[in-house]
Amino acid sequence: MPAYAAIAVDMKDGIVVLEGPQSTMRGEQIIAEVHKDIPGKSIKYVFNTHSHFDHSSGLRAFVAEGATIITSQTNKGYFEKIFALPHTLVPDKLSQNHAKVKVELVGDKRVLTDGVHTIEIHKTQGSLHNEGLLFAYLPKEKVLLEADSFNPPATADAAAPPNPANALLLDNINRLKLDVETIVPVHYPADGRKVSIDELKRAVGQRATK
Ligand SMILES: [Zn+2]
Repeated sequence: MPAYAAIAVDMKDGIVVLEGPQSTMRGEQIIAEVHKDIPGKSIKYVFNTHSHFDHSSGLRAFVAEGATIITSQTNKGYFEKIFALPHTLVPDKLSQNHAKVKVELVGDKRVLTDGVHTIEIHKTQGSLHNEGLLFAYLPKEKVLLEADSFNPPATADAAAPPNPANALLLDNINRLKLDVETIVPVHYPADGRKVSIDELKRAVGQRATK
């Protein structure tokens, strides 16, 4: 399985990591990379696109670091509950340091800013995949991080399998009038290429002309 993607934003009062996916091991890898790239700063927030197992299994590592989870209000109480369960089979940092699980909930929108960097978090309206599916948008960088709405094929010239979630993501981008150039899918394509908004538009267009 290819490694899931995440983005770290160096905010004045602490780092914000967008998505803590896959597993505690992947979470710890991401955290180690973040500390290498942005030394001497703690991770204040970890943003969670949705509660599905493969997108939340890295969160434990972030909670152990003292980070607060930002997630949809549809997950109210959920992470507090599951992270309080005994995790004794393969003890990790959280099962050892018993850090308190801190969660902040998002309805339709939340903006994080330090005056230099801005992160907008939006709800994917109409998602059938997950009621509380969120995505993150960096207006200055024109980057959008999303999970499961658009999982691009392994190579750019491969046809994307038809997926109504692609059109829904594009609808949401248009509805919010977001100026997106680059998409960072948490399920990053195997060739590691940069995914442009045009690729999403093409995937939607292919579907429409079928
Ligand atoms: Zn997924």
